[in-house]
Amino acid sequence: MVKAAVEELNPFKIAQKQLDEAAEILGLDEPTHAMLREPMRELHVLIPVRMDDGHVEVFKGFRVQYNDARGPCKGGIRFHPQETIDTVRALAAWMTWKTAIVDLPYGGGKGGVVCNPKEMSERELEQLARGYIRALGEFIGPEKDIPAPDVYTTPQIMAWMMDEFSKLRGYNTPGVITGKPVPLGGSLGRDDATARGGIYCVREAAKYLGLDLSKATVAVQGYGNAGSFAAILSKKIFGSKIVAVSDSQGGVYSERGLDPYRLLEHKKETGTVADFPNSERITNEELLELDVTVLWPAALENVITKENAGRIKAKIIAEAANGPTTPEADEILHEKGVFVIPDFLCNAGGVTVSYFEWVQNVSGYYWPLEEVHQKLDAKMTKAFQEVIGMFEKKRVHMRLAAYLVAVQRVAEAMKLRGWV
Ligand code: NAD
Repeated sequence: MVKAAVEELNPFKIAQKQLDEAAEILGLDEPTHAMLREPMRELHVLIPVRMDDGHVEVFKGFRVQYNDARGPCKGGIRFHPQETIDTVRALAAWMTWKTAIVDLPYGGGKGGVVCNPKEMSERELEQLARGYIRALGEFIGPEKDIPAPDVYTTPQIMAWMMDEFSKLRGYNTPGVITGKPVPLGGSLGRDDATARGGIYCVREAAKYLGLDLSKATVAVQGYGNAGSFAAILSKKIFGSKIVAVSDSQGGVYSERGLDPYRLLEHKKETGTVADFPNSERITNEELLELDVTVLWPAALENVITKENAGRIKAKIIAEAANGPTTPEADEILHEKGVFVIPDFLCNAGGVTVSYFEWVQNVSGYYWPLEEVHQKLDAKMTKAFQEVIGMFEKKRVHMRLAAYLVAVQRVAEAMKLRGWV
């Protein structure tokens, strides 16, 4: 990853900078702007867990409720050793814009626990998950704040959390959390929802730009959940050619194309895509600069910066990852005519199917997979068209256009409630 020394890389500062720009164009009044610049509420908790060797370890956890003007807060929980409150705040802000852009009746939130799940036993993880929910207690709930999985949290962890919350309430409460296993009220179609939502955006972007996706080449940075499904669906739905993929150990390139299913099998067997047979090795930096039709950053924040933005040759950047492009890089890409589908639009498929899960939980009626796909397509296509409408009207870059649509919706809800 190339980092520029003077470029702002604190995610919360970036989120605030993006909001400030939108606020200025929208002419937001002072109190509305002030309400949207900071989280409305946050809870910091300590979670004691008796570890397998008998000692008690005290973990730090957070839950940030950024804004709930449009409905209960919604956002994942990350278990990560380098978790910081500023990362959680930034992600909670982005969730606020994400739920607004796809017009879900939610606000934005996020949670995190500072821990290293790779070094913990299953029993210790279960104790931590249950302890976190007990510590949050009445702070969350199906009508208040609905968590979900994120980095290093799994459907099993969601199942323990839902069970713990149900014990606190005294009755089964599946709607408190989404991303649950299907037998416990999880929705069909949640596994590939993030990538699928992005795929519908890429389809609309290609129509807008007049590109034929059956002849397109695709590069994916980060062959994890979002990235591998992005590759699989690009080939399956459009017939595009996957020419490069990568993970934390490096990448591979093939002009003839890579089989996304075999890549997945290979990663399962060996732990990485980096030594996939019959392909050339490339670095993550080289992958980003390939001359492809669609580039999917699907790994980390701040990978497209002012250092490398000028060398990006992709026609479309589909941001599956959160925060892969810095504000300075955005300007450079816009000038170069690279079409960016911004993160909180491109990866909103995940939270949209989470919303479908919650609707199914609270109504007690479950939908077939085709219905989930149809409803997801309708939501994503509408959101994309609304952002394109703003992009054309204001002649700003796509991320700013998305901000204008989303911020306006949250500001309107605050005004209607009489907060500002
Ligand atoms: P994941 O852990 O399944 O996959 C991440 C992948 O990135 C892994 O293959 C990992 O090896 C790779 N990676 C790590 N460091 C890398 C590096 N330096 N260079 C290249 N690759 C690297 O995670 P995921 O769920 O697919 O999430 C990926 C991104 O998408 C994150 O930014 C996440 O916030 C975002 N996102 C995911 C979802 C979802 O539903 N999964 C929803 C919204 C946003």
